[in-house]
Amino acid sequence: MKIFNTKAELEQHLSVLKHKGLRIGFVPTMGALHQGHLSLINLAKQQTDVVVCSIFVNPTQFNDPKDLELYPKPIASDIEKLESVDCDVLFNPVTSEMYSENEQWALDLDGLDLLLEGEQRPGHYQGVTQIVKKLFDCVQPQKAFFGQKDYQQFLVIEKMVKKLAMKVELVMCPIVREADGLAMSSRNIRLSAEERKNALAIYQTLCWMKDQFGHCDLHELKALGREKLGKSPGIVLEYLEICDGDSLIEATDQNPQKLVILVAAKLGKTRLIDNILLK
Ligand code: AMP
Repeated sequence: MKIFNTKAELEQHLSVLKHKGLRIGFVPTMGALHQGHLSLINLAKQQTDVVVCSIFVNPTQFNDPKDLELYPKPIASDIEKLESVDCDVLFNPVTSEMYSENEQWALDLDGLDLLLEGEQRPGHYQGVTQIVKKLFDCVQPQKAFFGQKDYQQFLVIEKMVKKLAMKVELVMCPIVREADGLAMSSRNIRLSAEERKNALAIYQTLCWMKDQFGHCDLHELKALGREKLGKSPGIVLEYLEICDGDSLIEATDQNPQKLVILVAAKLGKTRLIDNILLK
């Protein structure tokens, strides 16, 4: 695997491959890699010729400085994991390579960045779109792979790609879970044994709600889900919403083509998100 720390070196390397007609697949990450990330690399390997993974803990998407400080950065084991799945290129820049000092700009994302996660984490999606735009500009991939785990993030990036008419196809990849159902996340290692056990209620509630879907109206279903998860030991529920899967507007009936339940909850100091498609 080739490893680059500067945009110039990365672009130089990729331009040779692009001249040969090879299709570039791109998987942006913040590192502390797990099977969820590696599933994205595997899918990218199947669908493109050269796979670029980036590891960059993007400061502008952290609204909580403590969260940024605590974010794990195990680069040596990340490199081993990427090599184990035959990733072709790792781009691992420092912050000054990606941002100039006091850089500030924002995109109009039609308010999609202000709902749900955006409401709880002001500025988060402006930070996400800033870095993904910069990364897309230098990698210029044919396809970019993102996890359903960050459902709203996918829609926000899709909005940016449409608005800026960027030439990249986005692929949403399924959520990879631990054997007991907990969605894999780089933040899971911060959970104590008890918090880890309590966290299972998140996916159990989502599955229970999916089972109940169709047996009661959405308003009732949401209230029951909130009550169930809100009462689970060790869980502080931030939000649980049933939304139109395209607009993320609260769904009041079963008419939208796609329906998704989105949830965020805190276990001690660790904040987890998860979601499930109802249809
Ligand atoms: P992150 O490093 O958290 O920024 O995530 C990088 C990419 O991996 C994003 O597209 C995430 O949605 C995706 N991802 C994270 N966790 C999972 C998971 N459990 N299953 C599938 N994709 C995931």
